[in-house]
Amino acid sequence: MRWAELPFDNHFARLGEAFYTRVEPTPLREPQLAVVSPSVLELLGLDADTANDPALVSVCAGAQRWADSDPLAMIYAGHQFGGYNPQLGDGRGLLLGQVRDAHGSSWDLHLKGAGLTPYSRMGDGRAVLRSSIREFLASEYLAALGIPTTRALCVISSNSPVQREQLERGASLLRVAPCHLRFGHFELFYYRQQFDRLKQLADYALEHYFPSAQQQAQPYAALYTEVVQRTANLLAYWQAYGFCHGVMNTDNMALTGQTFDFGPYAFLDDYEPGYICNASDDYGRYAFNRQVDIAAWNLAAFAQALTPLVDGEQLRSLHAQFLPQYQNAFLALMRQRLGLSSALAGDDELTRDWLSLLARSQADFHLSHRRLSSTPQAELMQQAEHFADLTGARQWLSAYQQRLQQQPGDDSQRMAAMQAVNPLYVLRNHLAQQVIRAAENNDFAPLRRLHRVLSQPFSAQPGCDDLSSAPPEDGKRLCISCSS
Ligand code: AMP
Ligand code: MG
Ligand code: MG
Repeated sequence: MRWAELPFDNHFARLGEAFYTRVEPTPLREPQLAVVSPSVLELLGLDADTANDPALVSVCAGAQRWADSDPLAMIYAGHQFGGYNPQLGDGRGLLLGQVRDAHGSSWDLHLKGAGLTPYSRMGDGRAVLRSSIREFLASEYLAALGIPTTRALCVISSNSPVQREQLERGASLLRVAPCHLRFGHFELFYYRQQFDRLKQLADYALEHYFPSAQQQAQPYAALYTEVVQRTANLLAYWQAYGFCHGVMNTDNMALTGQTFDFGPYAFLDDYEPGYICNASDDYGRYAFNRQVDIAAWNLAAFAQALTPLVDGEQLRSLHAQFLPQYQNAFLALMRQRLGLSSALAGDDELTRDWLSLLARSQADFHLSHRRLSSTPQAELMQQAEHFADLTGARQWLSAYQQRLQQQPGDDSQRMAAMQAVNPLYVLRNHLAQQVIRAAENNDFAPLRRLHRVLSQPFSAQPGCDDLSSAPPEDGKRLCISCSS
């Protein structure tokens, strides 16, 4: 399909103007395509050579639009760092419209960095190149790992100046996601006591995103149950793969359970459970090892917003399912990462001991897993040398060896299965910084190369050893500012 032929079906716009304000994008100056994701083109059913279509650049730079798009800024609220903000909204992004793919699934096309809206507050409506590239890389990398996430079709760079700590290049990103509803959408109408609007929104969500909940005797309770489950699944992935979101405010929590709104995120380098990736997070509210508790907190805030529709006691008991669901999902992922093909009683303890060994030794989270994936059972004890806690490592490796002997299948099967879930290439902050620096000087080749390699993170690619090695000491613990 060609770019101009995307079939729009703008069902969110049909909800009515209580839910958004129509706004046209403000064009960027001298736009150029920085990077495009072939797999997102494919997802939407677009021809591969769409990347060369000048209309892609003009639309994503806000200079042109599809005939059937209907750009709008959504209104929502949310808890930011624990405090309620009664009015947020798309301050620099616009929902351009919704399209259907060949299977009938709906995709939101959201242009981030599109200019001022009524919800811009003190901001300028713009996104800088640095943060657009970071969102692009994270979306596409998480997707390649199999982790639920919003996607990114492309990044446009420009010569529009944008002031942050210093003057930077304005940019835009076309975000592609099944849904842009956030927990904060429901909070807005709850705290305004507009319960008819709240119900309208919940009915819309059921119809478009939770069809099986809609069939239940208590659809709103079933909606909440499913959101709890999806959030538990998402958090299991983040914790199992070392992803720190950094700004888990309720307006950054997707109703449909994808990783959403990338700010100062980071993948861990060394396994530091208390790692804080957000330079503005003074108290570590969103530290890596607090993410599960915060997700539970956010789900409680979302439950509060549903109290006009579902009994409070019932919500409380549904909320209680979050932690056990998370724990089950996390253990299942860690079993895969450790190559445990069956479930045995001691696996939970073995996993916990592994993580505490990594933490004590400040070992690289990803390389440690990848090494286990590539080491035959008979040679596992030699892995101990990679850990500062040599004795602890020997103990754990010996327990691991014994555990592996209790399962059927040969060792090469185990290693192949592990290599398919333990990435060789990791989106590390220092790698992102390198390609951002080049892109800011109009050299997009390193960005495109990094994106290409990260889109196949599990298989070795020739000539790319520089992207799979351990980070240099001064490349670790980069703290990213929120000024994006
Ligand atoms: P975030 O920290 O990205 O979750 O954004 C929080 C709120 O601030 C949202 O309502 C954003 O739309 C808004 N916002 C963030 N950056 C800007 C900006 N540069 N211009 C206008 N609004 C912004
Ligand atoms: Mg946000
Ligand atoms: Mg943001």
